[in-house]
Amino acid sequence: MRLPILMYHKIDRLPPPPGARYHRNYVLPEQFDAQLAALKRWGYETISFADWLAYRRGEGTLPRWPIILTFDDGYRSTYEVAWPLLKRHGATATVFLVSDLIGKTNAWDAEEIQEPLLDAAAIAALRAGRIEFGSHTRTHPALTALPPQRALVELRDSRAALQQLLGEPVRVLCYPYGKQNPAVRALAREAGYEAAVIARRRLNSRTTDPLRLTRLRIDTSTRVPALRWTLWQLRWLWWT
Ligand SMILES: [Zn+2]
Repeated sequence: MRLPILMYHKIDRLPPPPGARYHRNYVLPEQFDAQLAALKRWGYETISFADWLAYRRGEGTLPRWPIILTFDDGYRSTYEVAWPLLKRHGATATVFLVSDLIGKTNAWDAEEIQEPLLDAAAIAALRAGRIEFGSHTRTHPALTALPPQRALVELRDSRAALQQLLGEPVRVLCYPYGKQNPAVRALAREAGYEAAVIARRRLNSRTTDPLRLTRLRIDTSTRVPALRWTLWQLRWLWWT
């Protein structure tokens, strides 16, 4: 079993709003639509982390070509722009929320333009549509730069707040800025997470450390043929 996980930030129209610094984080709706169509054509079926964890425990099966789509930060555009496209293609995804900033803006990114984040109503609507949610901590700090006790609070409290909001277990974590190390991973485990994601150009297998699942970054420049080549190459040439 080889599991690719794709990492998206914002599906939104270009040009980015005036003042946006990280233009590459924007993927056009047309691009996302074409990527979803292509993944389906190539035989991929989207799954959740809960599906993958169940499979790993020997409790469930996976489709032959599983893939997980993830969205970092939980922008409102995930609901307004990405969600209709996901529905149209019968695809699911996992969204990582910053629990103190639900219904607010990307306050952690003081130098970036502020954009609305999902509020409780949009989260409930997405959850009703079987979108999965994970934690991106309480306030989006670099966990490696915090004293362990504060990092643990970020991890534990965000998980508790999201569980309260969703009424179900929260199993997966996305390290802010991808920053993690053995100490942070131990804290994530202590806080109750069963899986966590980083960015690295590799696929996952049953033996991949579940607290270091790798994701392929998708951005403005990602073209369908390049995505196809990346997935093929990683599957057959770089799967260790
Ligand atoms: Zn983030």
